[in-house]
Amino acid sequence: MASRILNRSSLLAATNAALKTSKVLKPTTIRSLSTYDKHKDVLEALGISKQNKGVFDGEWKGSGSVMQSINPVNNEVIAEVTTGSVQDMDTALDKVVEAQKIWREYTIPQRGQVLLAMRNALAANLQPLGKLVALEMGKILPEGVGEVQEYVDVLDYALGLSRSMSGSFIPSERPGHAMIETWNPLGVTGVISAFNFPVAVYGWNQAIAFVTGNGVIWKPSPTTPLCSLAITTLLEKVLREQNLPPSLCSLVTGGTEVGHKLVTDKRANLISFTGSTAVGKKVGITVQERFGKHILELGGNNAIIVTEDADIEMASRAILFAAVGTAGQRCTTARRLIVQESVYDKLVGKLKEAYKQVKVGDPLDQGILCGPLHTKSAVEAYEKALKDIKAQGGDILYGGAVIKDGELAKGNFVMPTLTSVTADMDVVKNEVFVPILHTMKYKTFDEAIHMNNNVAQGLSSSVFTSDPAKIFKWIGPAGSDCGIINVNIPTNGAEIGGAFGGEKETGGGRESGSDSWKQYCRRGTCTINYSGQLPLAQGINFG
Ligand code: NAD
Repeated sequence: MASRILNRSSLLAATNAALKTSKVLKPTTIRSLSTYDKHKDVLEALGISKQNKGVFDGEWKGSGSVMQSINPVNNEVIAEVTTGSVQDMDTALDKVVEAQKIWREYTIPQRGQVLLAMRNALAANLQPLGKLVALEMGKILPEGVGEVQEYVDVLDYALGLSRSMSGSFIPSERPGHAMIETWNPLGVTGVISAFNFPVAVYGWNQAIAFVTGNGVIWKPSPTTPLCSLAITTLLEKVLREQNLPPSLCSLVTGGTEVGHKLVTDKRANLISFTGSTAVGKKVGITVQERFGKHILELGGNNAIIVTEDADIEMASRAILFAAVGTAGQRCTTARRLIVQESVYDKLVGKLKEAYKQVKVGDPLDQGILCGPLHTKSAVEAYEKALKDIKAQGGDILYGGAVIKDGELAKGNFVMPTLTSVTADMDVVKNEVFVPILHTMKYKTFDEAIHMNNNVAQGLSSSVFTSDPAKIFKWIGPAGSDCGIINVNIPTNGAEIGGAFGGEKETGGGRESGSDSWKQYCRRGTCTINYSGQLPLAQGINFG
């Protein structure tokens, strides 16, 4: 993703470009921090000033360049952050390694009590944090609050784990021997997160890494630093209250350089990376080169299949949320709609009507369903995708335009878009992180499953059907090849209790629920001989 860090000359260029499209916007508007002043109460309550230090390793500092957090509604600066340097990352790694030596000695139920305090601190700040997510990332307020709630939920889940995580007692073939499986912390988990879930992705990792006894170091997206500052400030307070070293939850904001330092450093035993497939591939190779562990949560190209026996009304409501929610900027956003030809016209007709009702606008305003894209470069990606669709013979059924009139012209607003394409076109093969939903027809259910699977990515998938035979085929060995396989619900909006992640170029990682916690641990197989004899396995007699 292209960075939104603006230096002074690019600010001037952006201002000049904006002046061409708007008489209202003056150069001073961008530098005036008026967004800060407008939302001062929330920002101050979360400890965010107009200028901030972007590194926390037990103390707040930062010796890297100054980064500006931009409001996607109007491209004004919200606040500035002095980011971390490679040296700051190096020091923070030392600090978190030392702190983890204390944390790993806590019993797991004791760790649970610390997680409970973190959970309560977040829950008490649910609304301001949700508002900050909406302001900085651009998703609508209910989704911003929902994202923070997801972190609260994962902390609840981790608290439960603190009383239930268990290993196995394995039958030994040797008399007087016990075989036990142990799960101990890996050490340090490095979390590199994407812009689109600036709180929840860290939450999934922090809660589970923490309950399993790891220290955590976070390198957030360079375009959502304020969310990471607010969360780290809350965690710092809890850790201090619990007499724990606050560097257990360290933070280093910045771009590729500090991310690369984290990825290459052996002190980060596990790298949990969430982002694009292109960057994730490099990260995976780098971590593998040093025999570190990694969890890769990468891009998706998610499809919804609608069969002839589906509840079309319910399907159309779900598709709207899946394709337009978060302005198409969820990893689980539905990008392809595969419809049995006999119900295609009916479903697409309903969708066009539903799309007309979608209000695009400021994500903090009531009634808005579609906020802006996060960056100007995302708007360019949207425009390029429209050109490609037309060049490859696809049709635009609805939308297909950047909003260039009125107040919204200052921001990164686009029309949610429906297309008509065929499955063999290149445009349906890649993830473009914008609200474009490609619709296509199928004849047989086998053909629909093939279309679902015939892309490089494998994150989320859904079928809408009332036929049990189709449901069981879909979830079986010849069904969807994705990590998330849904029936009669959208591709997005996963619950935290299941393992979250995808196959193929989505990276193969799993986070949050089920037994994902095991990835944050080193597994020990311990055989304990209490027999006083030395019988060997497989009956071997050695001397
Ligand atoms: P991105 O790949 O541009 O950036 C992700 C993170 O990687 C950022 O923090 C960035 O600074 C860092 N980074 C960039 N280069 C690096 C390097 N060489 N070494 C280490 N770190 C580096 O992704 P983005 O645009 O922020 O996010 C959108 C993408 O994330 C989409 O593809 C989306 O599908 C994906 N995503 C996936 C999931 C999932 O769970 N599968 C969840 C959310 C987002």
